[in-house]
Amino acid sequence: RAKKDGNGSIAWYDSSGDASSTDRLALLAELREALGSSQQLVLALQPVVDLNSGAPTGVEALIRWRHPRRGELGPGEFIDVLENSELIAPFTRYVLERAVALAADWAAQGLSVPISVNLSARSLLDVRLPGEIAQLLARHRVPPHRLILEITETVVVPESRTVTEVLNALREVGVQLAVDDFGTGYSSLTFLTRVRVDEVKVDQSFVARMAESPEAMAIVRTTVELARELNLRVVAEGVETAEQRSELARLGCDSAQGYHFFRPMAAEKISGVLHQLVRSSRGRVIPFPQEG
Ligand code: C2E
Ligand code: MG
Ligand code: MG
Ligand code: MG
Repeated sequence: RAKKDGNGSIAWYDSSGDASSTDRLALLAELREALGSSQQLVLALQPVVDLNSGAPTGVEALIRWRHPRRGELGPGEFIDVLENSELIAPFTRYVLERAVALAADWAAQGLSVPISVNLSARSLLDVRLPGEIAQLLARHRVPPHRLILEITETVVVPESRTVTEVLNALREVGVQLAVDDFGTGYSSLTFLTRVRVDEVKVDQSFVARMAESPEAMAIVRTTVELARELNLRVVAEGVETAEQRSELARLGCDSAQGYHFFRPMAAEKISGVLHQLVRSSRGRVIPFPQEG
C-alpha cells in the first residue's frame, strides 16, 4: 500500500502508525534483516556549532536506512513501527554502539566533541540500558560526558516511576541528557523539574517561524532565558538562514545546528569537518578578560 508523501518519495509504511498489520510485519521482517547486516542502518552526522566561535560543540547522530530496494529511508518512515516492537532494544543498542565507537575514534584524533543520540520513549522503560551504556563507554574508553542522550519530551509525558528511575540511573552513569524538541510537548516545563538535564534543544518549528511570528520569537527568546536561568546549554535546531543565525546569536543562544551550517553527513566525512571547524574557530573564541 505505497503512497506518495510530501517529498514525492514513496512511503510504504505510514508513519502515522495506521499501516496495515501486514505492512508492519513486512517492515519488521526487513528491519530485523537490516539489523543483522552492517551496511543498511547507518548514522548520518550533523555538527552542532558554537554561535560565537564556530567551534563544534557536538554532533548529532541521525539514523538512515539504506534499503536494498527502496533507497535511503529517513527515521520518519520506520521509527514509529520500530518503537512499537521488541526490535527497539537491539536497534537502540546498535545506534549507541556505533555512536560511542565514533566518539572513541574522534578522541583518538584529538577531537573532544560529544555525540548526541536520540532515545526513543520505549528505551526509558528499559532498566538494563543504563548499565549497558556504562559498559559500552568503558569498553571504548569514552568518558561518559561525551555521550548526550536526547529525549523528546512529547513522549516522556506519562508520569512513570520507571522512566524517572532510568533517567536518574543514566545521570549516575555520567552521560548528559538533553530535552529534544523543547516547547512542543504538553509538559516541557514540568519535565525540567522531574529530572536534571544538561541541555535543551529549541524545536525547529519555532526557529523556522521566528521572523514572521512574534509568538515563535517569544518562545525562542524565553527558552534561551530559561536555559540561562537554570544553567543549561541551549541549542537551536533547524537553522536554515543567516538571519536566523544572527538573531539566535543576538538572543544569547549558545549553539545551533541546521542546513545553514551543515546537512547531516556520512561518517567518513565528519571528522574532516570537525578538524576544519576547530582550526577555523581558533582565535575567534572570546578571550578571558585580562588581569590588571
Ligand atoms: P530530531 O532529533 O529533532 O532531529 C532533527 C531533524 O531535523 C533531523 O531529521 C534532521 O535531519 C533535521 N534537520 C537538521 N537540520 C535541519 C534544517 O536546517 N532544516 C530542516 N527542515 N530539518 C533539519 P531526521 O534525520 O529525519 O530525524 C527525524 C527524527 O527522527 C529526529 O528528530 C529524531 O527524533 C528521530 N531519530 C533520528 N535518529 C534516531 C535514532 O537513532 N533513534 C531514535 N529513537 N530516533 C531517531
Ligand atoms: Mg534530536
Ligand atoms: Mg528536534
Ligand atoms: Mg524530533
